[in-house]
Amino acid sequence: MYMLEQGTITIHTENIFPIIKKSLYTDHEIFLRELVSNAVDAIQKLKMVSFAGEVTGEIGEPEINIAIDKDKKTLSITDNGIGMTADEVKKYINQVAFSSAEEFIQKYKASAEQQIIGHFGLGFYSSFMVAQKVEIDTLSYQPGAQAVHWSCDGSPAFVLEESPRTERGTTITLTLQDEEQEYLEPMRIRQLVKTYCDFMPVSIKLDGEVINRQKAPWKESPQNLTKEDYLEFYRYLYPFQEEPLLWVHLNTDYPFILNGILYFPKLKPDVDVTKGQIKLFCNQVFVSDRCEEVIPKFLLPLQGVIDSTDIPLNVSRSALTNDRTVRRIADYIAKKVGDRLKELYREQREEYIRCWQDVGTFVKFGSLNDDKFKKQVEDIIIYRTTANLTQATPETPPAVEVQSQEGDVWQEVTPASGEQQNPTSQYTTLKDYLERNKERQENRVFYCTDEVTQATYVQLHKSQGLEVLFMDSFIDTHFISFLEREHPDVKFSRVDSELDKTLIDQDKSGEIVDPKTNKTRSEQIKELFQQALNKPKLNIRTEALKSDDLQATPPAMVLLPEVLRRLR
Ligand code: ADP
Ligand code: MG
Repeated sequence: MYMLEQGTITIHTENIFPIIKKSLYTDHEIFLRELVSNAVDAIQKLKMVSFAGEVTGEIGEPEINIAIDKDKKTLSITDNGIGMTADEVKKYINQVAFSSAEEFIQKYKASAEQQIIGHFGLGFYSSFMVAQKVEIDTLSYQPGAQAVHWSCDGSPAFVLEESPRTERGTTITLTLQDEEQEYLEPMRIRQLVKTYCDFMPVSIKLDGEVINRQKAPWKESPQNLTKEDYLEFYRYLYPFQEEPLLWVHLNTDYPFILNGILYFPKLKPDVDVTKGQIKLFCNQVFVSDRCEEVIPKFLLPLQGVIDSTDIPLNVSRSALTNDRTVRRIADYIAKKVGDRLKELYREQREEYIRCWQDVGTFVKFGSLNDDKFKKQVEDIIIYRTTANLTQATPETPPAVEVQSQEGDVWQEVTPASGEQQNPTSQYTTLKDYLERNKERQENRVFYCTDEVTQATYVQLHKSQGLEVLFMDSFIDTHFISFLEREHPDVKFSRVDSELDKTLIDQDKSGEIVDPKTNKTRSEQIKELFQQALNKPKLNIRTEALKSDDLQATPPAMVLLPEVLRRLR
């Protein structure tokens, strides 16, 4: 072979190779991501020059082939892309961009936690993390180009010579270091391709078989995807999980580039909500399983994919959190999620209600944490209510006529029976609630935090024509205080609160069991209430009306004196 040139790789520091070998990335395995993404780039570049009319003849089916030779201990990656001329090898390979290398060295010393360097900036050289020798065999698409062979054994010395290669494209061959022999295992390569290169838009073959999925649904236009496409992609990303409730397709290129599909999962109690599950990609190259910095905190339990070239990958987590673009991306995501929920609320109310149990938690948490998001969703926060909204609300609630049911036990009185399972459970917004009840309740909201233990109280309110909202999810305790702050003119009363307060005043000793009846004080109260409710034709409303100031007196209070008198 005819020697073209012998020389020294131009780099700024002699120490670059030991650094690359030991510590460029903590994860050596990403060398494959780097080499495959270069191969994809080469193919894309070929398409571009071909499109510009610079290529004579067919460019053929683009593909990347990975081959393993266990005897020679080599791993090679071949593409039929643009190839390189001798000059290009000298320019792009021999000159490690020393500025970025130097920058990397400084950064590396500065923060050991960072795992990813400049945007694949030292990409090609990452192969020296696992290889004792790297060879490039390449033929450029340019007419009359001479194929060249470059090799380097990890010292700054390289050899560039002519090559007999006749197919356009590039083969990178790594002779693996002794301690990196795992990359000779097809299973290991398969797994790496699946992790990092699954959605790269070119078929990647190992032993002649395509091993990547290629299609990245998040890059598609949402109009081209069906519901089943979204579900199928979810199952692919998160096998064996319950179907997601809904999804949001992100698609923007201004003021930053961002694509992605985010799914609302059904919330499980064992999910660590502080740990994100969204996968971060950059140009369809998998970057990380964690991108908490880019996702608004209250949306961390979302799943799916985001892809952006505008998220800096070469900085530490704290720098990322403070990055302006990253903060704007997080805001954008929150906004898009809010928009999607509003759309669902407007256009598919039943579906919205179906998802509310889980989605409501995000929405409430988001409202507590993000002012902008709060403003966006405040009108679509809904509460399950005792009101029957299918019929027009009567002007004056009818007086309750409770049938005598002697001998009934406490549990059987619970009005909840059926209501929870009832698919026609009614929901209302706070605004509608206040509007509907403004005459009778003024600015007072009655709520129930436990449908079972507060059943009697709910029933009592209902029977007096007072509407009760159920605020019984785990986040509601915080959310009620939030609502109180947000609506200083509204009084929020838990259905049993006045009672409880009175009880505490009356009986500081707590749950003392009455030796005569063998019942605790609250059990006795419950019973008395029950009896009161079961009194034939007891017209609670009429009783209530006897009270001088009905508006200021919650209905439970109306009965209390009577109850307490009988308790004495
Ligand atoms: P980057 O990909 O960020 O440009 P790399 O170090 O990964 O940095 O690659 C350096 C350059 O080497 C590329 O920009 C490209 O010009 C050239 N190169 C690397 N691999 C190939 C390949 N398979 N085909 C053609 N050119 C390549
Ligand atoms: Mg690269």
